[in-house]
Amino acid sequence: MRVTPQGLYCEPGDFFVDPPRAVPRAVITHGHSDHARPDHGAVLATPETLAIMRARLGEDRAGRVQQALAPGEAITRNGVGIRLVPAGHVLGSAQVVLDWQGSRIVISGDYKRRRDPSCAAFEPVPCDVFVTEATFALPVFRHPPAEQEVARLLESVRLFPDRAHLIGVYALGKCQRLIRLLREAGWDRPIWLHGGLMALCALYEELGAKLGDLRPVPMERKRGASGQLAGEIVLAPSGAEATPWVRRLAEPVVCAASGWMRVRQRAKAKGVELPLIVSDHADWAELLQTAEEVQAPEIWVTHGREDALCHALAQRGVRGRALHLVGRGEEDEEPEAAPAAADGA
Ligand SMILES: [Zn+2]
Ligand SMILES: [Zn+2]
Repeated sequence: MRVTPQGLYCEPGDFFVDPPRAVPRAVITHGHSDHARPDHGAVLATPETLAIMRARLGEDRAGRVQQALAPGEAITRNGVGIRLVPAGHVLGSAQVVLDWQGSRIVISGDYKRRRDPSCAAFEPVPCDVFVTEATFALPVFRHPPAEQEVARLLESVRLFPDRAHLIGVYALGKCQRLIRLLREAGWDRPIWLHGGLMALCALYEELGAKLGDLRPVPMERKRGASGQLAGEIVLAPSGAEATPWVRRLAEPVVCAASGWMRVRQRAKAKGVELPLIVSDHADWAELLQTAEEVQAPEIWVTHGREDALCHALAQRGVRGRALHLVGRGEEDEEPEAAPAAADGA
């Protein structure tokens, strides 16, 4: 396994894992755009990730040859054994387990250890080298239980019946997880969606995730008319609260669901009234727990706070190596600004 400008390259198997540019052969961990790029020759991924790639990139750009590998199945390419094992990040997300000449490397993509009712749970696989992200690799990042954050949201809905609650989410993963969590918490009213979220929710439903009654946010009735959906929960891509679209809603309480909501200044800067700390990435404790469980003597860190994580690993006798992969963390938990703000907090 080598790091090249095209990303992580498995030399004996002659394929890349999550390459940032089009390559002849790619194994893809999950459907976020910083991992699943268009126009590869051949793509190997879980059936769900392939479906997500076709939906987001278009049928003709999701890999000329698409090969589905379900968790539990194994194939061999040029003597390299390949398996995909659930990563608990979003629907279809998988770790890539590679066995070659008696040694094993596991590329985890993005992952979390918390329960997520919208996808399969992470399974630790003992290995010689574990490749991890480090998005939230600072001790300050300790995600509270997501159920607790959803309870805070529902309490706010109860307190402000005259206002709509608008939650900024990532379209792939966070949106559907939040909907499932709301359903589990007993919220059986319709959940209202910005148009930008409809397609992936429909795909999740098609792939077997039950999301309940979802409806598109209606058009503004007429200019200057009072907003709609008071007392209701509305989901939209982050940033929609700053567009004219938001005028459709009755005095919205602007919420955002992200691991970065731990950082107060960031929530404030984004005009978020009700920050919800809900992350699809491992927090500090989960990263260290995972390092311990996979028992790898060597851990490679793709992106994030690699300095802090490598330092903590060294104290535990594990060799850490920062890979500095470019283009990571761009879609699902954008890293800019926040880590500096979190220092010393
Ligand atoms: Zn991701
Ligand atoms: Zn990512």
